[in-house]
Amino acid sequence: MQTVKGSCHCKRVEFEVDLINGHQNIRRCNCSICSKKGAVMAGVTLDNLRVTRGADVLSVYQWNTKIAKHYFCRVCGIYTHHQRRSVPTE
Ligand SMILES: [Zn+2]
Repeated sequence: MQTVKGSCHCKRVEFEVDLINGHQNIRRCNCSICSKKGAVMAGVTLDNLRVTRGADVLSVYQWNTKIAKHYFCRVCGIYTHHQRRSVPTE
């Protein structure tokens, strides 16, 4: 288990993620929004993600089925994490 820290660009939002297999499961999603962002991501369960700062400045973007939740900092606009439509517990 490896814990990594991340943040948005303006640092108002900070989070920690527990990676069970380190950086082994890093991938790119090909859905319409992720392909435009070009972000790489690691899949973890919700209890392995902790927003440690700035939860109040996170906004969520949803469309279509409104199951997936794409979180971003509403100050700097940077995507921080999302909950998937296919596996909403991740
Ligand atoms: Zn920010």
